[in-house]
Amino acid sequence: MYKAVVVGTGPSGLTAAIYLARANLSPLVIEGPEPGGQLTTTTEVENFPGFPEGIMGPELMENMRKQAERFGAEFKTGWVNSVELTNRPFKLKVEGLGEIETETLIISTGASARLLGIEHEKENIGRGVSTCATCDGFFFRGKKIIVVGGGDSAMEEANFLTRFATEVVLVHRRQDLRASKIMQDRARGNDKIKWALNKTPLAVIHGEHGVTGLKVVDNETSTEEIIETSGIFVAIGHTPNTGFLGGQITTDSQGYIIVKPGTTETNIPGVFACGDVQDQKYRQAITAAGSGCAAALDCEKFLEGHAVHDWSQAL
Ligand code: NAP
Repeated sequence: MYKAVVVGTGPSGLTAAIYLARANLSPLVIEGPEPGGQLTTTTEVENFPGFPEGIMGPELMENMRKQAERFGAEFKTGWVNSVELTNRPFKLKVEGLGEIETETLIISTGASARLLGIEHEKENIGRGVSTCATCDGFFFRGKKIIVVGGGDSAMEEANFLTRFATEVVLVHRRQDLRASKIMQDRARGNDKIKWALNKTPLAVIHGEHGVTGLKVVDNETSTEEIIETSGIFVAIGHTPNTGFLGGQITTDSQGYIIVKPGTTETNIPGVFACGDVQDQKYRQAITAAGSGCAAALDCEKFLEGHAVHDWSQAL
């Protein structure tokens, strides 16, 4: 049995692991199919404080992992199929690892950016295809950029990217936008944003040095065309990774975990959530790391008063 198990190894989970390990709680950290999380799919990270020259996303995550290991965090790879949270110790059924028992649980499984699922999209992530304007917009200074999507995220990203781009083309599969009126008005009032509405993306066009265009089809005329660009920002929403919780943890209508304001506490005492799995708003590596720290401190405090196991015998 563990005192604390962390599920997910993005910036929030690894920061929680560092803090738990330094507090001598010997956490088990369960790594899923994308160790290191979303930052491992990006190239250079220039906005994580402490790295004036920037740092590559995978390297930043590797550093955090080493830091947690240095203080005694244990890492295992597995896929958490289900959890049993009605009584403590909690039980986790993990593919590849069997059943794991723990006094406390920190959920840091993140949210996965949705992709279009079109040809050459995945292989060009980090080579012109991005799901994060805040992270990657800067690399497209003085260039023409495409944003795909018709929701608030797409409007926000398009507006943000006009700071860098000469032109932003917003590609959306319908004539009507899903975005709120205020966000639409803001985007429509921006001269740098051009509209390619009622067009469905078909394929990412790429060359030796990355993306060169986006092939789309006009849904009214069935005409296909290639819109030239070196950057495609896919802003079609995120899916929080909360399916394995089987409805035992309270989420909002979109599946994001609801935490008590100002804390990382979920509806179940001893279960904490941090990072993008509970944050639809900021979604930054540094805000995720900050909430990971908070989750570890909340967890540590909880264990002081609520441990079911007599850990003094184990030490
Ligand atoms: P969203 O509202 O779900 O919009 C997703 C957009 O992507 C829709 O326009 C959808 O098209 C399109 N889309 C989905 N799958 C697609 C596919 N396979 N191919 C092409 N297009 C596809 O997601 P979001 O914009 O990320 O917003 C999520 C939530 O966060 C919303 O509640 C939003 O209000 C909120 N948010 C608020 C702000 C703000 O207020 N500042 C900023 C960002 C997000 P259809 O319209 O045709 O379905």
